[in-house]
Formats: sequence, structure tokens, C-alpha cells
Amino acid sequence: SNNCSKETKKHRKPRRSRRIRKEENDQEEDMDGPVIDESLLTRDFIYRLRKRPRSYPTAKYTCKLCDTLIESVAFAHKHIKEKRHKKNIKEKQEQQLLTALPPPTPLQIEAIGVAIEKVVQEFGLNNEDLEQRLGVKTAMESVLHQKLPGNTLL
Ligand SMILES: [Zn+2]
Repeated sequence: SNNCSKETKKHRKPRRSRRIRKEENDQEEDMDGPVIDESLLTRDFIYRLRKRPRSYPTAKYTCKLCDTLIESVAFAHKHIKEKRHKKNIKEKQEQQLLTALPPPTPLQIEAIGVAIEKVVQEFGLNNEDLEQRLGVKTAMESVLHQKLPGNTLL
């Protein structure tokens, strides 16, 4: 009956140690192998296949970075050490780093503005330059019009 099972439960599992027990269990699972191996593989973008592909029925894992099928955990570890994978993971990490960059602070934006202003003052066109340039463009266009009607300089 209900009462009875409650009693046996009480005997088997004292309440206070529940959390600890769970942690112990987790550790045991980790030490068994596959679980810790797979979680490590996920860090390397290798995932267990839900379905074995027809083209490669012995494949059990896939590397999403390299778009490669892998047969076993051992092969996965081998794959992680390959040059191609290392290169891909490096690129991925750089990408993630860039997308994780925080937006610039107002001070940084101001500094960029000052820097751009300096470059413009040093190398940019002033109004005189611009007018001269426009004049050249108009002159060339009129020559082109005479020789090749219908063409304009952009
Ligand atoms: Zn890979």
C-alpha cells in the first residue's frame, strides 16, 4: 500500500543527502565515459547523429564545423586534432569573439570621430579641390559627348 512504500522509501533515502547523492551520480556517469566524451565533443562542434545517414550507415557523429561524418568517439578525437578542423575552429572562435564584442562606449565613438576628422583635414578634398575636380569632369564629359554621343562619366 501507499503507506508501506513511503516507509521503505524513508529508510532507503534520508532526505538531507539528496543533493549530494545526485552529484555523486553525475560524477559516476562522467567517469563511465560516453557522457563526458560527448559533452566535450559538443564543445568542438561535434554532435551525435539522430539518424544514421544512408550514405554512411556506420557514422554516429557529425562535425558541424567541417560538415564531416564521424564513426566513433575515438575517430572524433582524431578529427579534432586534424589541421582542417583546427583551422575551422579557430575561425569560428574569432567570429564568436567579434560578435561578442560589446558596442562602443560614447567616449570611444568620440575618439573615432576625432580620428576621422584628422584624416579628413589632412587628406580630404577641400571645396577648391572639389570644384576643380567637377570642372575636369564636365570638360571630359563634353569631349566624350562629341566623340561618343550618349556616354557620360559617372
Ligand atoms: Zn571538424
